[in-house]
Amino acid sequence: MTTDTAAQAAYVVAALLFILSLAGLSQHRTSRSGVVWGIAGMVVALAATVGLASRSISATGLVLIAVATAVGAGIGLWRAKVVEMTGMPELIAIMHSLVGLAATFVGWNGYLDVDAELSGSLLGIHHAEVFIGVFIGAVTFTGSVVAYLKLSARIASRPLTLPGKHVLNIGALVAFVGLTIAFVARPTMGLLIAVTVIALALGAHLVASIGGGDMPVVVSMLNSYSGWAAAASGFLLSNNLLIVTGALVGSSGAYLSYIMCKAMNRSFISVIAGGFGTPAAASDEGEQGEHREISAEETAELLRDASSVIITPGYGMAVAQAQYPVAELARKLRDRGVEVRFGIHPVAGRLPGHMNVLLAEANVPYDIVLEMDEINDDFAATSVVLVIGANDTVNPAATDNPSSPIAGMPVLHVWEAANVVVFKRSMAAGYAGVQNPLFFRENTQMLFGDAKQRVEDILRGLDALDTPVREMAGSSR
Ligand code: NDP
Repeated sequence: MTTDTAAQAAYVVAALLFILSLAGLSQHRTSRSGVVWGIAGMVVALAATVGLASRSISATGLVLIAVATAVGAGIGLWRAKVVEMTGMPELIAIMHSLVGLAATFVGWNGYLDVDAELSGSLLGIHHAEVFIGVFIGAVTFTGSVVAYLKLSARIASRPLTLPGKHVLNIGALVAFVGLTIAFVARPTMGLLIAVTVIALALGAHLVASIGGGDMPVVVSMLNSYSGWAAAASGFLLSNNLLIVTGALVGSSGAYLSYIMCKAMNRSFISVIAGGFGTPAAASDEGEQGEHREISAEETAELLRDASSVIITPGYGMAVAQAQYPVAELARKLRDRGVEVRFGIHPVAGRLPGHMNVLLAEANVPYDIVLEMDEINDDFAATSVVLVIGANDTVNPAATDNPSSPIAGMPVLHVWEAANVVVFKRSMAAGYAGVQNPLFFRENTQMLFGDAKQRVEDILRGLDALDTPVREMAGSSR
């Protein structure tokens, strides 16, 4: 068997491993094996690619590749080890930016180093690949950098609204089509520089124009773009595996974005077009009445008398790392015969599945963790809802205020329960920057402070409530 045949066979194996990985990652029960399949696929792919390259690369070149791989793997391992769960979306966004940057460089290299055997229409196709690859790569690069800056709160998450922003976006696309035709007819460095600059500006503008509430879709959309950027590089490098892998990432990212848009009642086209047609942010910030407070001890009493409890966690639970005491609280209440369930909003936290991962980490049984659609009708018959560090995902304005920036986003109907206790540190707005009328409802009470400390206080409060009962039982014997 020649090196080429062996490498192509290895590519097929790697592609199958990547498909198994995607299938595994689609459910949290099988996600660990999905990650293992993905690592195995990447090892096979790297070994086959280096094996192929070894035919035409000097020993020094191979040493350089080995050093680059070791440095890259080292940085990847280090970042993955130190990243907090709350920092995952930023990490993913910055990784997408690297894929975009790599695709831009591959495109430029394809222009500077044209295969001498190419001629006629094949040369035209090559130049089209160069141009499209640079465009998708550069849009992905700056779009991901802006997403990183927004997600890490280094810049404000509210949408940028330049005058005529849609005309700017459409103008950039029209310019791209025109420049592509000109480049295929007569490739010049000036045209390639022009498309690179336009694409860099377009990527930054598209993501800057999107408001905080729509950022989850943007993260998965950029994931999709990075896949298409990799596929474009695959065509330029004549690497079948890169084409297949890029297409897998591109299409699965696009499908995930579509599912998220449906879950959030957002138009898919409007989000990828930089907020096209979304309502302008209404200024409904500021307090909307009186709020009532509750102490941890009073919450413990409320829970002692409850027959059913639903816990709706959000980003604040992740920040406080409160999942362990929350799991302990759920166990304790269930031991007392209280029906306890968790209601998970599809975009609670800062990445899809964020809450499920945290609760699984704290060994909360899967069967009491329900999706929003499975639990939304049950709030009305629930004694107590504990909203632990969630805000936008439990905001009734999304259902009853058409001028709210999050209008139309499906939310957990927590306010329908008999009692709602909201755990947060202040009256500050959530990620979308919108005030929450839930906090001012008659059946809502605020439990201020760090979520982890407050849940631990409640656990102590429940123990204290139990003590006299036991003592009484002891004295009556
Ligand atoms: P939000 O981000 O809306 O609100 C989190 C709340 O947690 C805040 O009100 C904050 O209030 C509170 N909080 C923060 N730290 C603590 C702490 N230590 N203890 C107690 N409370 C704390 O959360 P949601 O999960 O409800 O909504 C997620 C938002 O993020 C949505 O807008 C979503 O669109 C967006 N998003 C989601 C992504 C995803 O894929 N899931 C990705 C990107 C964005 P305070 O400061 O007063 O304590």
